[in-house]
Amino acid sequence: MTHSPPHDGSGSQNRGTKLSVETRLATRGRRPFAHSGFVNIPTHRGSTVLYETYADLKNPERKAEKSPDGRVYTYGRRGSPTITALEDALADLEDAERVFLTPSGLSAISTVLFALANAGDHILVTDSTYQPARTFCDNQLRRFGVETEYYDPLIGGGIADLIRPNTRLVYTESPGSQTFEIQDLSPIAAAAKARGVLVVTDNTWATPLFFRPFDFGADVTINAGTKYVVGHADALLGVIAARGSAVQAIHQCHGDLGVSVGPDDVTLALRGLRTMTVRLERHQASAIRFAEWLETRTEIERVIHPALPSHPQHALWKTYFTGSTGLFSAVLKPQPEGAVAALFDALNVFGMGFSWGGYESLAVPFDCAESRTATEADLGGQGIRFHIGLEDPADLMADFEAALDRMRAFSEAA
Ligand SMILES: *Cc1c(COP(=O)(O)O)cnc(C)c1O
Repeated sequence: MTHSPPHDGSGSQNRGTKLSVETRLATRGRRPFAHSGFVNIPTHRGSTVLYETYADLKNPERKAEKSPDGRVYTYGRRGSPTITALEDALADLEDAERVFLTPSGLSAISTVLFALANAGDHILVTDSTYQPARTFCDNQLRRFGVETEYYDPLIGGGIADLIRPNTRLVYTESPGSQTFEIQDLSPIAAAAKARGVLVVTDNTWATPLFFRPFDFGADVTINAGTKYVVGHADALLGVIAARGSAVQAIHQCHGDLGVSVGPDDVTLALRGLRTMTVRLERHQASAIRFAEWLETRTEIERVIHPALPSHPQHALWKTYFTGSTGLFSAVLKPQPEGAVAALFDALNVFGMGFSWGGYESLAVPFDCAESRTATEADLGGQGIRFHIGLEDPADLMADFEAALDRMRAFSEAA
């Protein structure tokens, strides 16, 4: 093993003691003196990994003894020092037993569900889930004899009534996609635990910085690293963090499916991780400022932002979350579609596009009435999902104000 001097900036001397999250993000997943002192870990590109001797090939543990990070690398698909660095940093951040990386947030969801659900199982999924997760359940899990039942995101401890003898897991996402319902995770997890049912949480919105699902009873968390970990809209990545009995099942399935991630994407995610606290503070502050301004506009029916007192589960949000991020929704008062189009086409600083979590602000129209089955999701007007980036909020308000003027002008002319 390479010696680890106390001044290597990796915080390795403090392993076991609790450094603050900012310090952990700046230090974890680094071993400068294992690669000539360079601060960042190199991007290991590779499929084949060579064994020095026949004995090493037959007994990989011998290889581990020679490896700078003490890990065994056998083949590119099964990991590399670059991948391990990101997994270690994220496992430390999440307080997870293991972290697994996947090529996208959706593949993290599909890998977890495929790993944990067996033929004949019943799973409970929140009605407010990210829509492609729903599509995966309806199209793929169904093919393998897994029954998905959607539940009201506000069900809380009432989930107990839906748990059957063959229920395998409860899938949660808080806040919900597009509509931002806050789930009462503790009673959900307590009801699940009492029946031996696993709890999975998609924590993409809050990130581990602002919500820690393991502290409230989750067994597995999923993050679309594409969003705030990468943070620059230049790569896709999925993160699975697990504890307890779920670890082995996910490890096996992740390997069997041949899920692997590209080294450049991992490097971009490691870079994003280092600045995540600073970026999220700004996303949070600017989004709240923009959302509060939006609440004063007469064209807006309502703003749906969990950190605002107007949010129906604001009190619940405060008990679970230590912060908010850049993503929230608003509903326009009823408008002809042409007026809505005029608004979006007038945007100049805001971009119009899917995904979020980068430094840039986005606004997209959404409609969830079609996809919900357990709950009524008629918004009463056109939904707009905002992602507030790192621009000056004053410029964003001016941009959106001009777009609202164009919308009004269209309506008045019609
Ligand atoms: C974007 C998103 C995902 C999927 O991530 P991709 O990397 O785009 O596949 C999953 N869950 C939530 C809540 C998301 O917002």
